[in-house]
This record gives sequence, structure tokens and C-alpha cells, in this order.
Amino acid sequence: MSQLPITRVLIVGGGIGGLATAIALGKLGIKTEIAEVKQDWQVYGVGIFQPPNALRALNELNVAKRCLEEGYSFEGMAYCDAEGNRFAEPESPKIAGYPGLNVISRKNSMIFFLKRHCLTTRQCEWGQQLNLSTI
Ligand SMILES: Cc1cc2nc3c(=O)[nH]c(=O)nc-3n(C[C@H](O)[C@H](O)[C@H](O)COP(=O)(O)OP(=O)(O)OC[C@H]3O[C@@H](n4cnc5c(N)ncnc54)[C@H](O)[C@@H]3O)c2cc1C
Repeated sequence: MSQLPITRVLIVGGGIGGLATAIALGKLGIKTEIAEVKQDWQVYGVGIFQPPNALRALNELNVAKRCLEEGYSFEGMAYCDAEGNRFAEPESPKIAGYPGLNVISRKNSMIFFLKRHCLTTRQCEWGQQLNLSTI
């Protein structure tokens, strides 16, 4: 059975997953179109922890360096009770030279880097709202 070459992909949702997929497919020469329901692509204004395996994956998309520059890195976390007594210190091993954790704003940095990378490398075209019931 012959395989049809994939040349165009429609991505539903322009969150971290959709934007990262667009960049990754673009690197393979596959044209993508993102259909994002939100008009203004707002992201809630909280931070996101980036463990080293995530940074390693983001490096493949050429955005890990900017995330590290804009974020705050540290070697690990400790969970404390209300009195400040430590009760858990989960391991945060380094992977591929990346720190145990990096934390970065979703709104101003993470999504921004991915969107800008998509735009500057012309790896996607912005789509319109997609109603899943029409698929
Ligand atoms: C409170 C909280 C804290 C978290 N903290 C962390 C953390 O520290 N570290 C970490 O790695 N992960 C964290 N996560 C998980 C992380 O946020 C998600 O795994 C990630 O955002 C998922 O990305 P996504 O692109 O798959 O989905 P989303 O970010 O949800 O993006 C989906 C997009 O699709 C759009 N959409 C939906 N339906 C349609 C449609 N029919 N047509 C067009 N567009 C549509 C939405 O508008 C949205 O923009 C956290 C999650 C939450 C809720």
C-alpha cells in the first residue's frame, strides 16, 4: 500500500501543543494552519514550570534558550506545611545540562516565543475559529 505524502496539516487549538506542533511540522517542511477559537489568543497570567525534559524538547524548537533567559531557574522544590516544615522534596534531576526546573510566565514569554517563532519562520498561517461540529 502506498503512503500519501503529508504536505498540509490543520491544527485545532493554538495553545502550547498546537504551536509546538506547527513549529515541529514546519521543520519537516509540512505546511500547517492553526484554527484557534479565541480572537485574542489570551493566556491566563500565571507561570509554568518547565522541567528539563520540557526544555530539551523546546530546544528542538529553538525556543529553550529564550525561555531560560526570561525565566527563573533553580535546582528543585521542597513542599512545606503551614508551619514551614518540609514534608517532601521531589527529585528534579538535571537532563541534558538543563536545570532541575525553570519557571516562566505563560502570557509574556512561553506562548509569545512560540507564536513569534511560528510567525518569523512562516511555519504556519493563522486560522479562524473552528467549530468542531463541522468536522
Ligand atoms: C492551573 C494549571 C497549572 C499548570 N501548570 C503547569 C506547569 O507548571 N508545567 C507544565 O508543564 N504544565 C502545567 N499545566 C498543564 C499545561 O498548562 C497544559 O498541559 C498545556 O497548556 C496544554 O496545552 P495544549 O496546547 O494541549 O492545550 P491548551 O493550552 O488548553 O490550548 C488549547 C487551545 O485550543 C483552543 N480551542 C479549544 N477548542 C477549540 C476549537 N473547537 N476550535 C479552535 N480552537 C479551540 C483553546 O482556545 C486553546 O487556546 C498546568 C495546567 C493548569 C490548568
